[in-house]
Amino acid sequence: MALEFYNSLTKKVEPFVPLDPDNKTVGLYTCGPTVYSYVTVGNWRTYTLGDLIARTLRYEGYKANYYMNLTDVGHLTGDNEGDADTGEDRMEKAKRKEGKNAWEIAEFYTKDFENGYKKLNLTAPNAFLKATEHIPEQITLVQKLLNNGFAYQIGDGIYFDTAAYEAKGYRYGELSNLDHIKAGARVELNPEKKDIRDFALWKFSPSNEKRDMEWESPWGVGFPGWHIECSAMSMQCLGEQFDIHVGGEDLKSTHHPNEIAQSQGATGKVPFVQCWIHGAFLLVDGGRMGKSLGNAYTIQDIEAKGINPLALRFFYLGSHYRSQLNFTWEALEGAQAALKRIYAHYLELPPGGIVNEKYRAIFASRIEDDLNTPLALATMWELVKDADIPSVDKKATLLDFDRVLGLGLAELKREDIPAEITALAHAREQARQEKDWTCSDELRGEIESQGYTVKDTDNGPVVEKK
Ligand code: AMP
Ligand code: ZN
Repeated sequence: MALEFYNSLTKKVEPFVPLDPDNKTVGLYTCGPTVYSYVTVGNWRTYTLGDLIARTLRYEGYKANYYMNLTDVGHLTGDNEGDADTGEDRMEKAKRKEGKNAWEIAEFYTKDFENGYKKLNLTAPNAFLKATEHIPEQITLVQKLLNNGFAYQIGDGIYFDTAAYEAKGYRYGELSNLDHIKAGARVELNPEKKDIRDFALWKFSPSNEKRDMEWESPWGVGFPGWHIECSAMSMQCLGEQFDIHVGGEDLKSTHHPNEIAQSQGATGKVPFVQCWIHGAFLLVDGGRMGKSLGNAYTIQDIEAKGINPLALRFFYLGSHYRSQLNFTWEALEGAQAALKRIYAHYLELPPGGIVNEKYRAIFASRIEDDLNTPLALATMWELVKDADIPSVDKKATLLDFDRVLGLGLAELKREDIPAEITALAHAREQARQEKDWTCSDELRGEIESQGYTVKDTDNGPVVEKK
């Protein structure tokens, strides 16, 4: 089977064909966080999807050129709801709340993001691209759109001209399910805009206000609109057309259609991106997740409950990325228990084997099938239980799967179980082999009194912390 992804642009599962098939290099871009608050378990689901795609491409023998942006210049609270350019500036709002300046807010939450990123074992992209470090590229792109007749200036900024874009034969609003991105918003918020669908490319700083983040431009001091950074930075790093663009499903409504319009309007090259992959949202306790609801959980919340952040990764992988997933603490604890079982099995397996070809093929076909991670995870259990596969090869095969799953098997150390406990377990196994049941029971009692359990499995005894 060949690698296939569901492409939101064509609305079908399609074989993945890279733009540059000869040297097997793939351009991949994921929309990253706005660094004005802690990253939530919802956001992490989307970044784990980006990582899964990068890992899968590499597993399939491609070189993935992977980039992710950090929105460190505050976009407006209305952006995600489809009312781009309205609402409050997110960074300014956070800064008032926390008594810091916008640069300090961005730095603090960028560190938080980078920490969480490592804890979830997400593979480092070629670079994290900060919007504030790519202002000249964004200005150049806006200038191109002005030159091409796809942008105009009004009192508060430079706007993209959707009608002019359509008049040239481009389709605006691809990917979007919002009626109003196609037919026009119900409420007109800026009467100077030519068309209600038009969105800001560059906003002018209000004349009575000195913003922490503002830059000179040919049109006046101001700051970029939210969408322009992703067009400018992705094209700078990956070229005017590239392979895969990833984000949460909410970005289909305005952010991604606007990225497409800006990029295609500037370069004239269609399509801007070959394959758009969107992850379904994470719900919490069956409903929406939100800061105001008090359920926008973070990796810190998870660690505070003594749960390994990789259990969150395992939990995500247990469902398909296009299915809604419901986060509950019980479900996460269940994921942690399953992960511990895999770890325990893995640690008991001897090193030195080779990857089992039959299981590798099963695993690959499942992951190639639009990233069927629930079945890919199931392959691990099937392998572990298969009595016909030598233990040494099981270890090598699990390690091979983990190139995609990223559960951190290679970093696991036996020392997680103290040496004296392992020694007791071995002595007990010896006693069992000699059918000295009294001795083996005594040793089991000793192991348990020190806070560990020993289970006899098809692969031999497995010691775990209670
Ligand atoms: P934001 O910081 O709001 O711009 O979101 C950053 C990324 O996280 C975007 O790709 C969003 O689509 C994604 N995202 C936000 N909330 C959720 C959620 N509940 N589940 C999955 N992804 C989310
Ligand atoms: Zn983006």
